[in-house]
Amino acid sequence: LMGQMMDRPLLISSLLLHAERFHGDTEIVSRTVEGPIHRYTWVEAARRARQAAKALERLGVRQGDRVATLAWNGYRHLELYYAISGTGAVMHTINPRLFPEQVAWIADHAEDQVLFFDITFAPLVDAVAAKCKTVKTWVALTDRAHLPEMKNVKPLSYEDLIGAEDDRYVWPEFDERAAACLCYTSGTTGNPKGVLYSHRSTLLHTFAVPLPDVMNLSARDVILPVVPMFHVNAWALTYVGAMIGAKLVFPGAALDGASICELFENEKVTFSAGVPTVWLGALQHLKQTGKKLSTVKRMVVGGSACPPALMEAFERDYGIKLIHAWGMTEMSPLGTVCTMKNRHLELSKEEQFKVELKQGRPPFGVDLKIVDEDGKELPRDGQTSGDLLVRGYWIVDQYYKGDKSPLQGGWFPTGDRGTLDSDGYLTITDRSKDVIKSGGEWIGSIDLENIAMAHPAVAMAAVIAAKHAKWDERPLLVVVKKPGAEVSRDEMLKFYEGKIAKWWTPDDVVFVDALPLGATGKVQKNKLRDEFGERLLT
Ligand code: ADP
Repeated sequence: LMGQMMDRPLLISSLLLHAERFHGDTEIVSRTVEGPIHRYTWVEAARRARQAAKALERLGVRQGDRVATLAWNGYRHLELYYAISGTGAVMHTINPRLFPEQVAWIADHAEDQVLFFDITFAPLVDAVAAKCKTVKTWVALTDRAHLPEMKNVKPLSYEDLIGAEDDRYVWPEFDERAAACLCYTSGTTGNPKGVLYSHRSTLLHTFAVPLPDVMNLSARDVILPVVPMFHVNAWALTYVGAMIGAKLVFPGAALDGASICELFENEKVTFSAGVPTVWLGALQHLKQTGKKLSTVKRMVVGGSACPPALMEAFERDYGIKLIHAWGMTEMSPLGTVCTMKNRHLELSKEEQFKVELKQGRPPFGVDLKIVDEDGKELPRDGQTSGDLLVRGYWIVDQYYKGDKSPLQGGWFPTGDRGTLDSDGYLTITDRSKDVIKSGGEWIGSIDLENIAMAHPAVAMAAVIAAKHAKWDERPLLVVVKKPGAEVSRDEMLKFYEGKIAKWWTPDDVVFVDALPLGATGKVQKNKLRDEFGERLLT
């Protein structure tokens, strides 16, 4: 016997219809790359998205075609999120921080037909245009007056393009399993791989994100996604905004601490999300200027492990809760978020903090397990560390144009190692390829980094596996000192005493001016291994 309820497809366009009808006057604020702050509402966003949809059809874009963007977080990018997916084409966000060769490789692999770009990326577009053979139309996200002078392409202006259309457009209905967006992993692990989200997976993921034990968002919130719209769809916040009617604030290209904090204050932001490096920048700015943030209450931090010292400083000095989350491109990206259970409320502050440092527990929709090298499930005892496998409604099944399934018995191997405890909390100990294997035993680099980051003289720290004659690999600590601060190698190593098992203590310390950061703001440990991996051999 089948159920007898409406079988309405879960489509991204339905989010926009809802926003227009039920949160029409909710504001969307953007810091533009041209300079001024731009303000409008969901009613105007929806109207312009319909114009953009018509323009796409006029350009010959058909259902299933890939349309690319190289753009910051801003209102025109938002319109494209809805216009491209809404017509049934595939929104392909390219990370502009990748090397030009990678951008060209990705656009070519995706066979993008049209590419929309912010004018700040005109030089990048000029550099890659000849190699992007499938791109027929280049559109600069600006008006005619701001069109950039370019050598290798003659871009259309977005405002002219959509200005030529009226907004009489009805979003088509199609199979909810159709492709909606394409994101490539940033390639920290080999060649970039495309993850092709469906409308259905995107909508189910969007339902989960605002839940109280996930990001706890409502119509009373003002959300500023620092996490870029070119990095896993800004962790769904552009969709969530439409779903719940929260005010959205887009930072454009200005992601430094001062600019972000200014927007926080001016727009009365209550919630934000980004990678740890962004919050380190914001913290430094606040410390230097002595400023406070009066409206921000919560920030989700993920993308790499959040140093406890960062979490502590925000809560103690600014009353802002940093909420630890873990996920990946292959998971849309939400995997786990760290919020407490009822029984944790009785714990002391210190004990609660220990819980909050974990990567968290999955919302309904994500299932997790850890396994050993033979794929045998390991106990959920909070101690045993294993390879982390996931499955669920918004998790990759197959890479775009991939030939063999990445799955292991129906589960996706994340490439992360971690523990699961009896309450369901995940602690990531390392990426499989970053783990240090010393004399046959694992040493987790994240723990060692977190300790170093708590030292008052340390701005950033990374621990890598360095080759070792006797132990095969030993941990090597790479440190960036805070401006004007001093700390010696021996003081640094002494700082580990009593905090970890003695044999986990790094063998040596290298001081550097900066750590190499990848396109998504993560430390590129492969580069550090290339540079310092043999240091313990001499
Ligand atoms: P990539 O960096 O490989 O392009 P993603 O940007 O999707 O891919 O990053 C996913 C990876 O980032 C995860 O597999 C994990 O290794 C790391 N990561 C994300 N969040 C956290 C976290 N809170 N703690 C530790 N590692 C994290």
